[in-house]
Amino acid sequence: MSTTSEPFIPLSEPCLEGNEWAYVKECLDTGWVSSAGSFVSKFEEKLAEYVGVEHAVAVVNGTSALHTALLLSDVRPGDEVLVSTLTFAASVNAIRYCGAEPVLIDAEPDHWQISPLLVEKFLTQNCTPTPAGLINTATGRRVSAIVPVHILGHPVDLDAIQTLADRFGLAVIEDAAESLGAKYKGRPIGRSGNAVCFSFNGNKTITAGAGGAIATNDADLAARARHLTTQAKCDPVEYVHDEVGFNYRMPNPLAAIGVAQLELLDSFIGRKRSIAKHYDEELAPLGFDWHRESNNAFSTCWLATARVNPERTGVRAVELRDALQQRGIQTRRLWQPMHRNAPYANCPAELDGTADHIFEQALSFPSSPNLTNASLDRICDAVRDIVGLAASRHAA
Ligand SMILES: *Cc1c(COP(=O)(O)O)cnc(C)c1O
Repeated sequence: MSTTSEPFIPLSEPCLEGNEWAYVKECLDTGWVSSAGSFVSKFEEKLAEYVGVEHAVAVVNGTSALHTALLLSDVRPGDEVLVSTLTFAASVNAIRYCGAEPVLIDAEPDHWQISPLLVEKFLTQNCTPTPAGLINTATGRRVSAIVPVHILGHPVDLDAIQTLADRFGLAVIEDAAESLGAKYKGRPIGRSGNAVCFSFNGNKTITAGAGGAIATNDADLAARARHLTTQAKCDPVEYVHDEVGFNYRMPNPLAAIGVAQLELLDSFIGRKRSIAKHYDEELAPLGFDWHRESNNAFSTCWLATARVNPERTGVRAVELRDALQQRGIQTRRLWQPMHRNAPYANCPAELDGTADHIFEQALSFPSSPNLTNASLDRICDAVRDIVGLAASRHAA
């Protein structure tokens, strides 16, 4: 409910100001509206080129990219897979789709990504190497992979995770759904040599309406991904299949939107970074702790997010969210950590309370690339006003 006549400012909205219309029209004019067509391969080529990898395989969404990459990394029913507890549910759901069990790892407090220290703690204290692979001694299950999730446009400490994965023989499947365009030690996310999954959902940095992709330098993995996501059909003419496949390929009109959006990606990232900087400059003095960029990272600042510590700001994150909503400004909390969600409450876990604490305080602010400076000023003024009202209430 909004009590203002000023226009509503959404958290994040798609910004379709390039060649989207022209490219989609081309699909319709030529009749290429299904999961074959020149925009699918063009999207894959342009994405691979942007990230700097040999191959990209376009699929219907980020969740199916993760599911496919996990299956192709030999994650089997009954396995355990390490993953951050502070993530969107899709990262963890995809593990269950494989019949595997997530092992929920807490976040590090500085950049809120999966904690390499807690990954190491779990692997050294709970697991035993055996000829059949690494075994979780408490459950008897094989631990086969790790899914580091680059949350909020910021990279995970990949070298630390890769070192542990190599030491313990784990496959690494990166969930980069929120972090296309981010860099770790100067290298774009996606170029690590692992299977790296992206999303082109409507609220991501760029959108295809819906969509996802797997980036890889492994030609064999790319070929198997194309096969598995095209119903595992072996013959171009005959209906012959050699395994249980999926209908996961991206349709041409979505790829057309994706191609147009890729042309705009760097400008979107530039704008998002300047939006985040603006919030930091204007609102840090009020006690807001903005999500910080690590020294070795380039963040896309996908959603500008702050910790709202009531002892410093005088308001709780949920109060601020509700008060801003009244003024027609949308903000949103982060995801309830996975270990607090019913399907995952009983998973093996290595937790130290960090994700819970971040979840209590974090609030994401409007970050659309087409957010105007006037809207930014309106948001910052509204926050100052709400925080000031809270302070005068406390003083009274
Ligand atoms: C959005 C998102 C996904 C899933 O992508 P979809 O395209 O919506 O299926 C997976 N992981 C994370 C971290 C996400 O934010």
